[in-house]
Amino acid sequence: MKSKSKAQSPRQRHIPERSCVACRGKRPKRALVRLVCSGGAVKVDLNGRKVGRGAYLCPLRECWESGLKGNRLEHALRIKLSAEDRQVLLEFGRSLPNREGCQS
Ligand SMILES: [Zn+2]
Repeated sequence: MKSKSKAQSPRQRHIPERSCVACRGKRPKRALVRLVCSGGAVKVDLNGRKVGRGAYLCPLRECWESGLKGNRLEHALRIKLSAEDRQVLLEFGRSLPNREGCQS
């Protein structure tokens, strides 16, 4: 049985990179958490499949905190983050490890 004959380059596939809105660090898209603005609310898009304007953050507590503290995330998504959404996102950020990887 032959595999699909659609052109698949034998060369290494290009890995799309995105930058974190908090630390500006570039990482492969899959190493970042996507946030998407849909219907006026901001959601964490863990599968990267939601449609809408997206922004990326490192899966690190400090990036979420600094991204949410200022207006960087709002700026990237071009929305006004509601207090409720900000709280939900901060809580998600708290479940993430910090850069040192120690969960105190
Ligand atoms: Zn970051």
